[in-house]
Amino acid sequence: MNVNAARYPLTKIVATVGPASEDPASIEAMIRAGVSTFRLNFSHGEHERHAEVYNTIRDVAARLGRPTTILQDLQGPKLRIGELEDDRPFVVTPGDQIAICTDVVQGTKDRVSTSYEHLAHDVRVGDAILIDDGLLELRVAELRFGAEWGDEVIAEVVHGGLVKPRKGINLPGSNVTTPSMTAKDVEDLAFGIALGVDMIALSFVRSPQDVIDAKARIGDLGGSQPLIAKIEKPQAVRELEAIVAVSDGLMVARGDLGVEMSPDKVPLIQKRLIRLANRAGKPVITATQMLESMIVNPRPTRAEASDIANALLDGTDAVMLSGETAVGSWPTRTVETMAQIARTIEADDTWRLAMQAIGDDIEHAESGGIAYAIANAAANLAHDLKASAIAVLTATGETAEHVSQHRPGVPILAFADRAHVAARLSLWHGLVPVHEPLATNTDDVIVQVEAGIRRLGFAAAGDRIVIVGSVPRAGNRRALFLECHHLD
Ligand code: PGA
Ligand code: MN
Repeated sequence: MNVNAARYPLTKIVATVGPASEDPASIEAMIRAGVSTFRLNFSHGEHERHAEVYNTIRDVAARLGRPTTILQDLQGPKLRIGELEDDRPFVVTPGDQIAICTDVVQGTKDRVSTSYEHLAHDVRVGDAILIDDGLLELRVAELRFGAEWGDEVIAEVVHGGLVKPRKGINLPGSNVTTPSMTAKDVEDLAFGIALGVDMIALSFVRSPQDVIDAKARIGDLGGSQPLIAKIEKPQAVRELEAIVAVSDGLMVARGDLGVEMSPDKVPLIQKRLIRLANRAGKPVITATQMLESMIVNPRPTRAEASDIANALLDGTDAVMLSGETAVGSWPTRTVETMAQIARTIEADDTWRLAMQAIGDDIEHAESGGIAYAIANAAANLAHDLKASAIAVLTATGETAEHVSQHRPGVPILAFADRAHVAARLSLWHGLVPVHEPLATNTDDVIVQVEAGIRRLGFAAAGDRIVIVGSVPRAGNRRALFLECHHLD
């Protein structure tokens, strides 16, 4: 029972799973509405719960015949305040003083705790401390080391509001010295790899070394998952090129980025990061607040529709939903709204030209090897001959990724006989993975691919299709082929 993948946009939709959406019916509805990747957010939730959700996604995706990427998002060195007395939020107003201490206390108006032991060492008097994505702003008034409740930062409230338990802390002006992977991250990573997640995202990356270390850690734990670097710190923005070079994928993590820097900086960083990722041939996700108002409302704001449209025109591989699907009132409706906006944009010539420009701009044209050159030729063929779809037979996924990088502007069906390859490809722009055992001889495999394209609704009799593949030849060699013809 395959879902009708032909009506999905080429831009991918990532949905964060949470209490509002983790039951099988919601997962199925979101896949049918167009989700290609689910994000398990390890900032929240127990391992047991994540494992249940993981299994639900795998079951539903298999039943629908839609390979789906499962992305494990590690919390990283996110600073948070602790629990509050009786779990009760309280209000602070400008001029109030509040202590943030390293001992565990049940927070009150006078004192809240943080699990970040270095806080008092990493800030200076006068620095800003932002709480709850910057909704509350404090300023450091005094530092007390070895005080009654451990090391304490005495802060004065600049912009007040409601203090809620376990909310995030951002220190925009300070250099946080905590390691890029916390003890919790290492535990979560081992758990995710054992579970079999398809990709891993690391939060608050500050340097290329953070990425290199995380990849080494994945390898040590027996994993081979691609690593997505979440760009949400000013330090990362300063080393963007070098971070893109060592990462397997990128995320414009606009939520924390807009607090760590400021909202006016986000749009141009988004454009720059997407351009760098496109050129380097790495998938990039644009994240956070894309349909924020739909957490409560059934319709998007016009600004949100424009924001999604612009991310597509910038060249993002995927757009992400966070609270909208994790805790919102309309998870499926939000996905449908996003898919509808994407379909409309992708039907327009402005978008087509933008995709062509990305395909022309890609790096390593000479050094990319045969797979790269064939992928380039396939994209050009599809364009020149107005093909309805491209089919790629892919063993490791690499040829399919190359075709996606060239943004041919038509669906790219990636036929893969290995489940983990198919699942991983679902995040990439335009790729529609099809998981089935592949015939070994060229004639049979072409018949098989044609049947698949027809069954999935991507082309009908008389349409042109382009096929890229690799076939075994005598003496253990393989040969790549590229062909184009009309469907009978
Ligand atoms: P988060 O990351 O939702 O895990 O914080 C994305 C962002 O900060 O935009
Ligand atoms: Mn973040």
